[in-house]
Amino acid sequence: WSALSQRNSNSYSHNYHPKPHVNGTRENAAFVVLVRNEDLHAMRETMQQMEDRFNHRHHYPWIFLNNDPFDEKFKTFTSGMASGDTYYGTFNETMWGYPDWIDQDKARAARDDMAARQIIYGGSESYRHMCRFQSGFFFRHPLLDNLDYYWRVEPHVKFTCDIDYDPFTVMREKNLKYGWTISIKEYVETIPTLWDTVKNFMKEHPDYIVPKDDPESLLGWVSNDGGESYNLCHFWSNFEIGALKWLRSKEYIDYFNYLDQAGGFFYERWGDAPVHSIAAALMLKQSEVHWFYDIGYFHNPWYQCPSEPEWLPRDKCSCDPEGSFDKHWYSCTPEYLKVTGKKATDFLITRPN
Ligand code: GDP
Ligand code: MN
Repeated sequence: WSALSQRNSNSYSHNYHPKPHVNGTRENAAFVVLVRNEDLHAMRETMQQMEDRFNHRHHYPWIFLNNDPFDEKFKTFTSGMASGDTYYGTFNETMWGYPDWIDQDKARAARDDMAARQIIYGGSESYRHMCRFQSGFFFRHPLLDNLDYYWRVEPHVKFTCDIDYDPFTVMREKNLKYGWTISIKEYVETIPTLWDTVKNFMKEHPDYIVPKDDPESLLGWVSNDGGESYNLCHFWSNFEIGALKWLRSKEYIDYFNYLDQAGGFFYERWGDAPVHSIAAALMLKQSEVHWFYDIGYFHNPWYQCPSEPEWLPRDKCSCDPEGSFDKHWYSCTPEYLKVTGKKATDFLITRPN
């Protein structure tokens, strides 16, 4: 594995930031970014916001992952932007490639068919590898081996509010497994057999599932009929703060392997967002999932913006709460609040003052 990963050396003379030790000042956590060399400048813009809004107080490391090796320019220009250490990793063929049980002709025919039907990313092969990687492998990359928590970041996203607390600490102190910010409905054409596959998995492993009559069950958020069908609701996984221990658990790995065997990452276009979200809704308790309502976040074309009026004049947020996606008809956040019996302000970590 050592050839597949490298820690940046201190040879970048412009990287002078102090790096406190983990002993009490920082959680055992990192940003994890899957990104291509050509997204360098979008990546730097996103990094600058994350550093300004949050990380200059903490210096969490950045872990960059890529199916192609990162070039020197990417490494130099991103490590210069980071206040923490930077790491660069690539993959082996298990993580980004076809498992041997996949019929690649059938996969190609499915791509052609979905492209002809103009399904978003329907014709893309790399997008499918990406979704499978994010569903089942990033958390097993050796660069993450010693970490407890990850924060998924993508190039092009924006962070529009000061984050004046440490979300990783919140994860640990509240024993949370999964944190999200935007929820939305999936394109049904990308996942025609996903829910049937999930139902078969549930039949094989009823002990993995939070019972649906348990008051802590989140099933009602992904199904309107007690589990018969999927209502397409999912957490938008371009933003995630999660516990690696959960994704590495036997329960989650069995779930991922079951889906992987079924072939839908290639014969359909299963996204990592519904895959993670369904797992969370079935296997986690409500109290293990957190809506990071107060983290202002933009991923084209939607954004989350908290609506505490006191925050705008204080410059805490630069977004316009009027357009925040949590109140949009296509959002699943109203249903989430209904199922959990909560209101948005119940999720505030720091209160406006
Ligand atoms: P979307 O958000 O569903 O439109 O998909 P994106 O294009 O944003 O891709 C999701 C994440 O995977 C982003 O962090 C991308 O940078 C990354 N990504 C997508 N495809 C590839 C790929 O082929 N190689 C690499 N290295 N990263 C990719
Ligand atoms: Mn994206």
